[in-house]
Amino acid sequence: MAADAEEGSSLPEDLEPIREALIEWYEADHRAFPWRETTDPYAILVSEVMSQQTQLERVEAAWAAFLERWPSIEELAAADRSEVVRFWSDHRLGYNNRARYLHEAAAEIEEEFDGGFPESPEELQELQGVGPYTANAVASFAFNTGNAVVDTNVKRVLYRAFSAPDEDREFEDRANELMPEGRSRIWNNAIMELGAVACGKTPRCDEAGCPWREWCDAYETGDFSAPDVPTQSPFVGSRRQKRARAVRVLGEYDELPLSDLGPRVRVDYGGETGEEWLRGLLSDLEDDGLVEFVSGDRVRLRR
Ligand code: SF4
Repeated sequence: MAADAEEGSSLPEDLEPIREALIEWYEADHRAFPWRETTDPYAILVSEVMSQQTQLERVEAAWAAFLERWPSIEELAAADRSEVVRFWSDHRLGYNNRARYLHEAAAEIEEEFDGGFPESPEELQELQGVGPYTANAVASFAFNTGNAVVDTNVKRVLYRAFSAPDEDREFEDRANELMPEGRSRIWNNAIMELGAVACGKTPRCDEAGCPWREWCDAYETGDFSAPDVPTQSPFVGSRRQKRARAVRVLGEYDELPLSDLGPRVRVDYGGETGEEWLRGLLSDLEDDGLVEFVSGDRVRLRR
């Protein structure tokens, strides 16, 4: 992968366009989860604890039912623990210990914070069953006071886009450097959304309109491996992706000579993957009615 753990690597100097591009992309469209519509810390804590290792679709129904049954931290703290655990298993939410911890955390908030919710990631981490990830998520989404969230999705994005070395500290540093100050709510939502819908194990850079394509190292090199994707996924480096890239590049110009198009489609253009290879790719695109040659070696998108 492009990541060079020995030398490390830095983020681009001007982070503003990168930040703006991601926030705009997120604001234009994202998955609508009900917990994204609230800033109630209790509701957000419940959603975060439920989402740990449970599919979000299943969490959605359980979350609404849980809040109907125990609408406030006070009511949860006063509940019988065995009922909370029963709810958890009835809704197949995974490890019942998480229900116990959540109930315990509610009691801690009632007793130690007088029912007022802790707002900083540090305080939140003191609660039963709340680790660094959950603390940051709740601080961000409820209070906009979090640090950058670093989960598997975020690591994958940072590793691919900015060649972050595969070390927790490195990911954290880069994630926090990237995050615009005072905007943890939208930022953490946006970067996690990017990792989930665009930069998944099988990346969907073009289909998902990833806003970081122009800065992304993996997009540039075609190497999409990641800490949780040790080998190339079948899509990666595939002809399909090269086709998509050729179409995208041609969309930016009226027409292009093959000698200019080739290096924009693959960084290793030349030799076995030179003009002959490119002509084969373009011939497929021509058959599909997507491109046309305007002369022997100039090509454009079909009009
Ligand atoms: S361009 Fe592709 S690999 Fe790079 S960050 Fe976007 S989705 Fe991930």
